[in-house]
Amino acid sequence: MKRRDLIKYLSVAPIAGAAIGTGVPFQALAGTATAAAKRDVIKELGLRTFINAAGTYTTMTASLMHDEVVDTIQSASNHFVMINEVQDKVGEKIAAMCHAEAAMVTAGCWSALVLGTAGVLTRMDRKKVALLPNLSSFEKTEVIVQKSHNVGYVHALTNTGIVPVEVETAEEMERAITSKTAMMWFLNSSGPMGKIKHEEFIAIGKKHNIPTMIDMAADVPPVENLWKYNDLGFDLVCVSGGKAICGPQSAGILMGKKDLIAAARLSAPPNGGNLGRGMKVNKEEVLGMYVALEKYINTDHAAEWKMWEDRVATIVNAASKVNGVSTEVFVPPVANHTPAIKISWDQSKVKITPRELLKNLQNGSPSVEVMTGPDAINITVFMLKKGEDKIVAKRVQEELAKAAVS
Ligand SMILES: *Cc1c(COP(=O)(O)O)cnc(C)c1O
Repeated sequence: MKRRDLIKYLSVAPIAGAAIGTGVPFQALAGTATAAAKRDVIKELGLRTFINAAGTYTTMTASLMHDEVVDTIQSASNHFVMINEVQDKVGEKIAAMCHAEAAMVTAGCWSALVLGTAGVLTRMDRKKVALLPNLSSFEKTEVIVQKSHNVGYVHALTNTGIVPVEVETAEEMERAITSKTAMMWFLNSSGPMGKIKHEEFIAIGKKHNIPTMIDMAADVPPVENLWKYNDLGFDLVCVSGGKAICGPQSAGILMGKKDLIAAARLSAPPNGGNLGRGMKVNKEEVLGMYVALEKYINTDHAAEWKMWEDRVATIVNAASKVNGVSTEVFVPPVANHTPAIKISWDQSKVKITPRELLKNLQNGSPSVEVMTGPDAINITVFMLKKGEDKIVAKRVQEELAKAAVS
């Protein structure tokens, strides 16, 4: 390019031009990022943003990533790398942090459930990988699950073609084992409801040489759960990346036995002609997940818990000022194990339904999302940003006070 042409070209496309002309793509791309950051697409499209006092719900985009995670995504996006190498390296790091033999980053916990089950069914047999979800030529096609654990998430497993077999007691579980049994699946959030507890469940699996998998998607905190179920002896452990860990919302972790993780990867991208080709995670999610997990593990969890309790106190104090309103603080024993508030009221004294209250909170400024029940609203505080507890406290108090009979 002649200098004159180059100048002309640079004035039209300064950023791309700089990258090509000067050989400093990093600086050029950093410039792109700054320009992009100034554009507020959410505002441009008129999308409603809100304070999330509800919790980590997929429909609300679940959680917000920390700056370190976004920075990782940003810097990773400037380079080509081999995705298998990224998965290898990150897998080793995650496995070491969580006491597993091996790990991979998946497209959410759901995808970890699908791919882990696929790995159990196919092992390293690529012909089998190509057949899923058609199991007509497979010997092992059943997954044992406790009746109280057989809820919607089982659909992740049935994607692979397996059939769930329900049991209630350990004796029933033993009797249900046949040459068709491929795996045993434990839904951690239903743990307290089931008759067979973790240890016994694993022991039965080991006795019959059948792999066990646990879904603990939303079950940190406590942080120890990230290694507890590996230590206990589950062969596969599935976690959401975009809930309390605050990784990319489209990421999750599958970890466990080395041979099963290697097998699961055959059904995942970049491999094709398989069940999981659509469950893609690129380097940005894989590396972002790694950094988020590391940050989460290194968090001062006691200090964080104290902060949540302070937020809860702020909201409880405000809401309780309205005559006829009662509050209850609770911590779910498993899954979203963080301090939460149930606010209910005597509807003859405060004339508003939970649905109407939610509408008013959504329509207020700033907009606030909470969960509603038949006679209460539920608030969780772990997805709030700094200072938002005071806004939620004020808005809830205002709306309840407005509806109060004087
Ligand atoms: C959220 C959740 C999933 C799905 O996790 P994603 O990361 O959204 O794919 C699976 N199982 C349970 C119990 C969950 O709570």
